[in-house]
Amino acid sequence: GLDTDAEKTESAGSDSLEENPVPLSEVANSGEISVPESLIDQVIGQEHAVEVMRKAAIQRRHVLMIGIPGTGKSMLAKAMAELLPKEEMQDILIYPNSEDPNEPVVRTVPSGKGKEIVGAHKQEAMKRTKTRSTLILLLIFGIMGYALISGQLLFGIIAAAFIFMAMQYSRPKEEAMVPKLLVSTKPDSIAPFIDGTGSHAGALLGDVRHDPFQSGGLETPAHDRVEAGGIHKAHKGVLFIDEINTLTPHSQQSLLTALQEGEFPITGQSERSSGAMVRTEPVPCRFVMVAAGNMDGVQGMHPALRSRIRGYGYEVYMQETMLDTPENRDKFIRFIAQEVKNDGKIPHFDHEAIEELLLEARRRSNRKGHLTLKLRDMGGLIRVAGDLARQEGAEIATAKHVLDAKSMARSIEDQVSDEYIRRSLEYDLTVVEGALVGRVNGLAVMGSDSGSVLPIMAEVTPTQGATGQVIATGLLKEIAQESIKNVSAIIKNFTGKDIRNMDVHVQFLGTYNGVEGDSASVTVATAIISAIENIPVRQDVAMTGSLSVRGNVLPIGGVTYKIEAAAKAGIKKVIIPQSNLDDVVIEERYAKMVEIVPVTTIEEVLEHALVFERKEDFIAKIKEMSSRRAKAFADK
Ligand code: ADP
Repeated sequence: GLDTDAEKTESAGSDSLEENPVPLSEVANSGEISVPESLIDQVIGQEHAVEVMRKAAIQRRHVLMIGIPGTGKSMLAKAMAELLPKEEMQDILIYPNSEDPNEPVVRTVPSGKGKEIVGAHKQEAMKRTKTRSTLILLLIFGIMGYALISGQLLFGIIAAAFIFMAMQYSRPKEEAMVPKLLVSTKPDSIAPFIDGTGSHAGALLGDVRHDPFQSGGLETPAHDRVEAGGIHKAHKGVLFIDEINTLTPHSQQSLLTALQEGEFPITGQSERSSGAMVRTEPVPCRFVMVAAGNMDGVQGMHPALRSRIRGYGYEVYMQETMLDTPENRDKFIRFIAQEVKNDGKIPHFDHEAIEELLLEARRRSNRKGHLTLKLRDMGGLIRVAGDLARQEGAEIATAKHVLDAKSMARSIEDQVSDEYIRRSLEYDLTVVEGALVGRVNGLAVMGSDSGSVLPIMAEVTPTQGATGQVIATGLLKEIAQESIKNVSAIIKNFTGKDIRNMDVHVQFLGTYNGVEGDSASVTVATAIISAIENIPVRQDVAMTGSLSVRGNVLPIGGVTYKIEAAAKAGIKKVIIPQSNLDDVVIEERYAKMVEIVPVTTIEEVLEHALVFERKEDFIAKIKEMSSRRAKAFADK
C-alpha cells in the first residue's frame, strides 16, 4: 500500500512541475507562477519531513518535529490534518447525572447529530415549561375567581403567589436537564487541526468553570459548566504543540495519559474552584500528536512523553538551509508567489525584486552555496515589501521595495546591535582610526543574525608567580586560555618570547554578548603579539578567524553579518579566513564601504594589522618565522 502511495505522490509532484514549463527564474513576475492547492505541496525545502508526514498520516502515527522556529513545523502539522484518512467524525455530548451530579455523563453521536439532539431537548423543555405555565395560569385564575366570588381575596392572592413562586423555582430545573454539546463537528469535513501551543492546563485538558452560586436554586448544573480541552477538540484529528517543553510537567503527564488511553475525563483545573469537585466520565480524545521544539526544547520534554511519541511514531529534523541549485531557486521563487497569494492584499514581485529576495535568502543562510529555510522571516520581509509597494499604489513590487523593506524589517537583534554600535561610538568604545598597542577590533555575532564590533585589549606583564597566568573573566578566560594554548608556539616563533613566563591580561571592551568560542582567537593572538612586541595595531582594521596551532587561519560562522557590522561602525578593512570568502554575501552599500582581506595564516593577519616602524624588520621576522614553521613541519 505504501509503495503505490509514494509513487502516486511522486507523479503528482512532477505533474505540478510541468504546469510551469518555463524555468521560474525566468518569469517576468511572480504572478505567472501557479501555486499548488494542497498545503503539503506548498511546503518548501523539507522533502524528508514531507515524506514522513505523508507516511505518518496514513498510519495515524505521532510525530516529533525538531528544528528552529519558522521552518514550517505548524504548516506541516496542519497539512497532516488534510492528509489523515477519512473517518466518521463524532460529536461529544455531556448530560447531567441524576445519581451523582458531580460526575456528568458523556455520550458520543455521529457528526452533526449533537446539534439536533440538543435542539430537540431544548424544545422539549420549552414545551413542558409552556404547558406547565398554562396550567398554572389557569389554576391561578381559578383560585382568584373563586376568591372573588367567595369574598376571601387575601387568601386568593397568597395562594396565587405561592403557586407562581413554585413555578419560577421549578423552571430552571427543567432547562437544566438539556445536555451540552461539548465538541461539535461538521459531517464530511476534514479532520480537525488544533494548535495547543502555549495552552494552560485548562485549555489543553478541559476545565469545569467555577460556580459562584453553589446552592439555593440559582446554581448552574455541573455538566453545563464543563468545557472541552484541546485534546478533546482534536478527537480524530491532529493536536499540534510547539515548544512542547514549556508545558508544565503535570500537563505533559496528563497528555501522556490521554495519548495512552484515547480518553480523558474533564475536571476543574483550579484547585479552589467548585469545578474541582466535578469529574466527568472519560471524554474521547483519540488524536494524532504532532509535538515540536528546537533541539534543547525536545531534550527538556518529559522523557516518558518523548519515548511514547518516538515509540509509536516518527521523529523528524527540520532543515535550516537548502542547496542553492536551479531547482531549489525555483522552489524559493514559488514560495514568493505562495506568500503573495496567501496574503491576498499585496502585489506580485517583478524579476529584479525576486533576484533581490534570492540574494537575501543566500545571505541569511550564512552558508556557502545555500538558501535559508527560515521562511517565516522571509515571508515577513515579502509582506513588508509588498505593503510598501501597495502604499505607493504600485502594480508590482520592485527591487527598491525589497531593499527598503530590508532596512525596516530587521530583527530585534539587528536593531540592538545597531544601537550598541551607535552607543559605543558615542562613548568612544569603538576606535576606528589611528593605531594602538594591544587593542584589536574583533568581530562577533549577536543572536543568530547580526554582527557587532567587539574590541579586545591585551596587556602583558612579567609573571608574579612561578608560571604565567591568563587573567580574564567569564567566557573570555576560556576563549583566551584556549587560544593562548594555540598561539603560544606561534608567539614564541614570532617574538622569541615564552608567554608561559608572563601574565597575560585580556579583556573585551564594552559589553560582551554571544561570542562563539574560537572565532575570537585570531583577534586575541594579534592583541597579545602586539602587547608583547609593543607594536601598534591599526584601528581601522577589524578581524575574525579561528587560529590553528600551526598558525593557519580557519573558517568561522556569520562572516557576512560581521563584515556588515564592521562597515557600519566605520572600519575600512576586514580580515577574514580565506576559506570563508565564498560565504560572503553582503549588500552592495556595505561592499563599497569596506575592503575584504582574505588570509590563510597569522603572518598575513599581522602584515595587515600591525603598524611597523620599519618594514624591513617585519619582513625579516616573517621570513624567519615562515622558515621556522617549514622546519617544524619537516621535523615531524
Ligand atoms: P514553525 O511552526 O516551524 O515555527 P510555521 O509553519 O508556523 O513555522 O511557518 C510560518 C509561515 O512561514 C508559514 O505559514 C509559511 O508561510 C512560511 N513557511 C515556513 N516554512 C515554510 C516552508 N518550509 N515552506 C513554505 N512556507 C514556509
